Amino acid sequence: MRKRLVIIGAGMASGRVIEHLLAQDPDGWDITLFNAEPRGNYNRIMLSPVLSGEKTYQDIVTHDDDFYTQHNITCRFGEAVVRIDRVKKVVYSNEGGAPYDKLLIATGSAPFIIPVPGHELPGVITYRDMADTQAMIDASAKPGAKAVVIGGGLLGLEAAAGLKARGMEVAVIHLMGYLMERQLDPAAGYLLQKDLEARGITVHCKGATKAILGTDRVEAVLLDDGTVYGADQVCMAVGIRPETRIATDAALEIGRGITVNDQMVTSDPDILAVGECVEHNAQLFGLVAPFYDQAKVVAATLLGNDAAFQPVQTATKLKVTGVDLFSAGDFADSEGREDIVFRDPARGVYKRLVIEEDRLIGAVMYGDTADGSWFFGLIKDGTNISDMRDTLIFGPAYQGGTQADPLAAVAALPLDAEICGCNGICKGTIVSAIEGGAASLADIKAQTKASASCGTCTGLVEQVLASTLGDAFKMPAAQPMCGCTELTHEDVPRLIKARELKSMPAVMQELGWKTSCGCHVCRPALNFYLLADWPEDYTDDAQSRFVNERNHANIQKDGTYSVVPRMWGGMTNPRELRAIADAADKYDIPAVKVTGGQRIDLLGVQKEHLPHIWADLNAAGLVSGHAYSKGLRTVKTCVGTDFCRFGTQDSTGLGIKLEKRLWGSWTPHKVKLAVSGCPRNCAESTCKDVGIICVDSGYEIGVGGAAGMDLKETERLAKVATEQEAIDLTVAFVQLYREHAKYLDRPYKWLAKVGLEWVQAQVVEDLDNRAALIKRFDLSQTIYQRDPWADRATPQAQADFAPLADLTREAAE
Ligand SMILES: Cc1cc2nc3c(=O)[nH]c(=O)nc-3n(C[C@H](O)[C@H](O)[C@H](O)COP(=O)(O)OP(=O)(O)OC[C@H]3O[C@@H](n4cnc5c(N)ncnc54)[C@H](O)[C@@H]3O)c2cc1C
Ligand code: SF4
Repeated sequence: MRKRLVIIGAGMASGRVIEHLLAQDPDGWDITLFNAEPRGNYNRIMLSPVLSGEKTYQDIVTHDDDFYTQHNITCRFGEAVVRIDRVKKVVYSNEGGAPYDKLLIATGSAPFIIPVPGHELPGVITYRDMADTQAMIDASAKPGAKAVVIGGGLLGLEAAAGLKARGMEVAVIHLMGYLMERQLDPAAGYLLQKDLEARGITVHCKGATKAILGTDRVEAVLLDDGTVYGADQVCMAVGIRPETRIATDAALEIGRGITVNDQMVTSDPDILAVGECVEHNAQLFGLVAPFYDQAKVVAATLLGNDAAFQPVQTATKLKVTGVDLFSAGDFADSEGREDIVFRDPARGVYKRLVIEEDRLIGAVMYGDTADGSWFFGLIKDGTNISDMRDTLIFGPAYQGGTQADPLAAVAALPLDAEICGCNGICKGTIVSAIEGGAASLADIKAQTKASASCGTCTGLVEQVLASTLGDAFKMPAAQPMCGCTELTHEDVPRLIKARELKSMPAVMQELGWKTSCGCHVCRPALNFYLLADWPEDYTDDAQSRFVNERNHANIQKDGTYSVVPRMWGGMTNPRELRAIADAADKYDIPAVKVTGGQRIDLLGVQKEHLPHIWADLNAAGLVSGHAYSKGLRTVKTCVGTDFCRFGTQDSTGLGIKLEKRLWGSWTPHKVKLAVSGCPRNCAESTCKDVGIICVDSGYEIGVGGAAGMDLKETERLAKVATEQEAIDLTVAFVQLYREHAKYLDRPYKWLAKVGLEWVQAQVVEDLDNRAALIKRFDLSQTIYQRDPWADRATPQAQADFAPLADLTREAAE
């Protein structure tokens, strides 16, 4: 007698089970197939081509009416099973029951819906089945219709590309920093975003949906940051979870999915489960490859044969025409893993292989995925790759290559090509100087002024020397920024500006970084260059900062921290002093020290107390002194006219004004200022980065002083008559330093490279440029002038204070 098999769910997994079962035992089973959808099995993964118009629904049907009739399968489509009676062995839909000998649950997943206000409005859908796809196709029929896709994972992006192909205006909102973060790394995510944007899709990463707006139906999506995207249709593609409801009601064993053993049998020996609804060895699955293996095992188990399900690696591809993306295996950073990275910025190609113990364990590629399956094979087979390591990244058909002559491009430049932008020097002038006897960079600087200013053309000048003098010129080895790139600190910021690169992955991809995500040397530098150039577009990356900047406190040699509140211009008052004293008592602070920068250092603070002490000091009106930052530290002052017999101007008042204007700004290195009320110079202005000496007739502004490892007196930038001019010149100087200095060069080092004359031309003589520098500085301050203590003074912040290895021990002032 034929056994009765009831299947709940006509999806991709159960379709395969039916095929295997009928192939091996065509007459053994009476099959009843329930499906909540009003249709039978179809290829769900091809919904995206249906959405984009490349296929029709008919094209993706895997089992049609003829198939079901031919195999006597009872189809109960459009009937959701609502209950399983395990005792009587009957399943029920609202339209009646069906008895079983064996039951197979194949209910797939339920899409997750973020319960934001407005999520129930008509026009908000998920992306799971043909009905969703049809709803999107219908929405796109309205001319000028707009869609918002929430979720920048595989499904969301396929939906976005499909909707765009149907002519809708599409915005993708993604919570994470880059697209498809589960399958890609930031570099590949960046390329993907670039490709989608080139198709006219708006991509908003780090975007948290706050509400879906509309009265009768959806009209717009509001994000946490206040951005609003108009929407006639909202597609939520933010994740799925196994559809376990009927299994839970039937008291089957459930973890995150329906628990099955290696034979795909649930906690009830007559009930099996397959597909996205199952959990096997605490693992869930979301791609079809493992389900096809599971389907074979289900058929074998039903037929009484031996079989066991063993999960294998899966690879991901995004089905968006024209986007080549491949990812497989594990490519998270971890100790003992090595990366091989290949980038071809011009072609938009990125490949990354992750190796552990001479085995390939992960591969992510973008732009050229032809070798994907070969790499995937190496991963699955655990092949030892040590013998082919050098050429591995080039794939199985590596033919070798030759390197282009780096000097050829410079040699080909015409004589009137401009080499030094600052000084307007063209190639011909440099070549004439060389023909006249100049043989070194210093000679060229002295004779032509080329490369004597901001220095970004130094490499080019050297190449002109090399191509003109040939062997007679020994090219100094360019010092690359770090091992991740051949480019120097001069090249990188220049290219960031010239090519308008606005994110870390953009820089790394376009400038051909050799590593996937940079290192502890280049990341802080890039973070600074990017935030200094694009304050409005770039989001500061805390992970790219040194430990002190991440923790908003200086870590000291015994592992405790020092906390230094800001004292504007060195001024304080009894209330602040009381708050500091109270904090010292409350948090058992072993040392309280007046620093050389005129403020009070609380030394020996325990890490876990940091958020609390910040909150207490904040409550008394004190903010962080940024005693740890590559940014403005202090503005030291003397007492000036208010109390001193010699004071010529209000030096304390000017110091306070400067500190209030400049605090919170990030700079290539720390910046310290001082204002003295007369040439007696009690504030020690002549050894500061910017030091102002007030005199009877105005203000003398010196720059580029130092009193640390190097001792250096300031050079006189200018003398001005008014306090406002003194402030303007200081701000413009700091901004010029931010825009042109190499990261970690103190102002005096930068000044030595670019020369005082050039700086004077920029900020003293060129009034328009001065104004523009001030404007850019102030714009940046609208974003970055924030008190980190106020931002982080929460008990939850404690979790963020893990000790880190790359400590930068530095004096507090
Ligand atoms: C748009 C899209 C694109 C995708 N692209 C890819 C891809 O490129 N590669 C890849 O590997 N995977 C892809 N996937 C995932 C893949 O489709 C799923 O992993 C696969 O379909 C899961 O198969 P399943 O049989 O477990 O569930 P499903 O195929 O989802 O089938 C489950 C069926 O059960 C029905 N059901 C649920 N509850 C009940 C009930 N109580 N009673 C009766 N019926 C019920 C549902 O209506 C559904 O028809 C994609 C998915 C989508 C939605
Ligand atoms: S610098 Fe001049 S004004 Fe300032 S305290 Fe010293 S003597 Fe007085």
